[in-house]
Amino acid sequence: MTWCTRRALVRTAALLPLAAAADCSTGRADRYFPQHGTAAHRTVAYDLRLSYDPDSGRLDGRARIDAVAGPALDRVELDLARLSVHAAEVDGRAARTRQRQGKLFLEAPRRIAAGAPFTLDVRYRGRPGPLRSPFGSIGWDRTGDRYDGTLVASQPLGAPSWFPCNDRPDDKAAYTFRITVPRGHQALANGTLHERSQDGRTEVWTYHHPGPMSSYLAALYTGRFQHEHLPSVTTVGGRPVSLHNAFPPRLAEAARYDLGRQPEMLRHFTELFGPYPFESYGAVVVDADLAEPVENQTLSVFGRNHIDGKRGWETLVAHEMAHQWYGNSVGLSDWRHIWLNEGFATYAEWLWSEHLGEDDADTIARRERLSMGRRDQDLCLAEPGPRHIFDNRVYVRGACTLHALRLAMGDDRFFPMLRAWHETHRGRTSDTEAFITHADRHTAQAVRPLLQSWLYDKALPELPTGSGLRRV
Ligand SMILES: [Zn+2]
Repeated sequence: MTWCTRRALVRTAALLPLAAAADCSTGRADRYFPQHGTAAHRTVAYDLRLSYDPDSGRLDGRARIDAVAGPALDRVELDLARLSVHAAEVDGRAARTRQRQGKLFLEAPRRIAAGAPFTLDVRYRGRPGPLRSPFGSIGWDRTGDRYDGTLVASQPLGAPSWFPCNDRPDDKAAYTFRITVPRGHQALANGTLHERSQDGRTEVWTYHHPGPMSSYLAALYTGRFQHEHLPSVTTVGGRPVSLHNAFPPRLAEAARYDLGRQPEMLRHFTELFGPYPFESYGAVVVDADLAEPVENQTLSVFGRNHIDGKRGWETLVAHEMAHQWYGNSVGLSDWRHIWLNEGFATYAEWLWSEHLGEDDADTIARRERLSMGRRDQDLCLAEPGPRHIFDNRVYVRGACTLHALRLAMGDDRFFPMLRAWHETHRGRTSDTEAFITHADRHTAQAVRPLLQSWLYDKALPELPTGSGLRRV
């Protein structure tokens, strides 16, 4: 079982249409995955009522979607793959539907006026499964273990494997999940558990997450888990954040230890990045091997292979938590800006090492820079091309870019700049040019030339000498 891979090479067979890689320039270009999502409407809220039967693997779904039209609409476009729609309504009136190549079109019985709110009601069913993509198999999958589990790891294009959505990272919405599973099974989803009720042989788990959240970060896990509720963390300038982990019972002891420093991590990252942006956080461990953990919003997912009882994968625990600020709260206007997610989360790994008294970020950055060779001179960080958004070079060069900026600015300006970046864009999306302008405003000397060379030149710059860094 593999998911979008950070360390592994991207597979050669492209099964989704991809935009061509643009030149390394600041010019506007087509979106990286133009077949996914539409700009013709934006979503306000998803209300997903899902009934899952682990014996048959069948999912019965009903999605009520509140949205707002851009231009006037005669039909509404959504993304949905491998699942069949059997009834749909637009604003309470039955609508004809058509499904083709991962798209779902609903004919509006009455034209939707430009800028008008509207509601969709889509009933669908089938056996969901992972979607093949240039990044491996993504989306919904079964864990195939003794716990009859399922998981969702959609990044970047897997959300249509389990619900109809406007699948683009800049369409963020609120989510409600009402999940029916057999008694004895559990369901976890983003946000807060509002209600759990039993009805004969089934249980209904209701979650709400005000988000806003991009479709690729929506997640559902079912099966049998052991739960751990950690004391809420009250952070400076923030509200109390509840912490909750779930893991297969057989891995409980190791998982409790490996995830045990998350309260300290949350406090530390809040000091560095600003108040935690959501109401809760947690890690779910599934009884399957995952190529990489995934930072699903408020509820990251880890594979059993990331649990060793020795905190051997704690850098990734830090990485996924840091994404809640950078990637989830501050999202991407398009996948081309992925370094703003992965460079930041990788730099958070280095900052966590520094906090623990192990190698500091400067030592790690200089070691990484020294080890970069010719292959590292062949990537434009700000325009990696759609096939390379999860290339390891995006992660490491992205983190080195932030470290170069820290060296140039000094700690007294760098960390307030990082906090202001989150505070300014929280709940929204942004892009590379906005970051360069933001950083440039936070320092007396111009850092635009430094950032331009790290982000837009293929040749690798040297790290500035810098001085005055504290251990943070
Ligand atoms: Zn990441």
